[in-house]
Amino acid sequence: DTTHGTILYVEGVTVSFDGFRALNNLNLYIDEGELRCIIGPNGAGKTTMMDVITGKTKPDTGSVYFGQQINLLELSEHQIARGGIGRKFQKPTIFEALSVYENLELATAADKRVWWTLTQQLNSAQKYRIDEVLLQIGLAEHRYKNAGALSHGQKQWLEIGMLLMQSPRVLLVDEPVAGMTGEETEKTAELLLSLAGKHSVIVVEHDMKFVRSIARKVTVLHQGSVLTEGTMDQVQNDPKVIEVYLGE
Ligand code: ADP
Repeated sequence: DTTHGTILYVEGVTVSFDGFRALNNLNLYIDEGELRCIIGPNGAGKTTMMDVITGKTKPDTGSVYFGQQINLLELSEHQIARGGIGRKFQKPTIFEALSVYENLELATAADKRVWWTLTQQLNSAQKYRIDEVLLQIGLAEHRYKNAGALSHGQKQWLEIGMLLMQSPRVLLVDEPVAGMTGEETEKTAELLLSLAGKHSVIVVEHDMKFVRSIARKVTVLHQGSVLTEGTMDQVQNDPKVIEVYLGE
């Protein structure tokens, strides 16, 4: 029996924009290696929650800890990203003129914007890691292809691969299957499921069919706090959840 401790503690977090509470006493606990889906109607606070965890937005009140020791509110967005919390935005930030391999190579660098890292020799551990990630994201046979020539889904996987190069403990993924074909959606589900265990994966997603296909535990946000948590069946049959979604 492996007991996974809590890796992320979000407690009593409130964020106001001009008096409007985008997050209102939010409490969220993420276990090491778990795959958590966060759902909720538009304006529920999902994006603001990701902004708080990744250090983009500092809350008015509350605390955010990575493990029991690391106070994320004392760290910058950059430090948090470097320290083990990766975030995948909807729009990929891959380098289209470079090959898949070069994109992953660049992602091993301390600073992605430093072009000269491309001329550095990778050590064997880094090369091994790139091969490992290429297999994980299903792009091993496309390693020499220009990233710009990849399909929409493949670009998203490459972006995930670039985050994986930093071996994040926590991976935040915003609407991973938006715009994907059915086949790409299925592959993305497999990919995210394969990442759980090694990483804590937090997925914010609107596509309920997709959430059902991957989620063990679902958190429903509403008006900046947690409305309910549980399995997909539990939350979908919860009268509070039905009411909130009918009102959308
Ligand atoms: P979600 O991602 O669940 O749709 P958001 O976190 O984007 O929700 O937004 C929560 C609420 O906070 C929304 O009502 C939104 O209009 C408001 N909000 C978010 N960011 C800002 C901002 N920078 N300034 C003012 N209001 C904001």
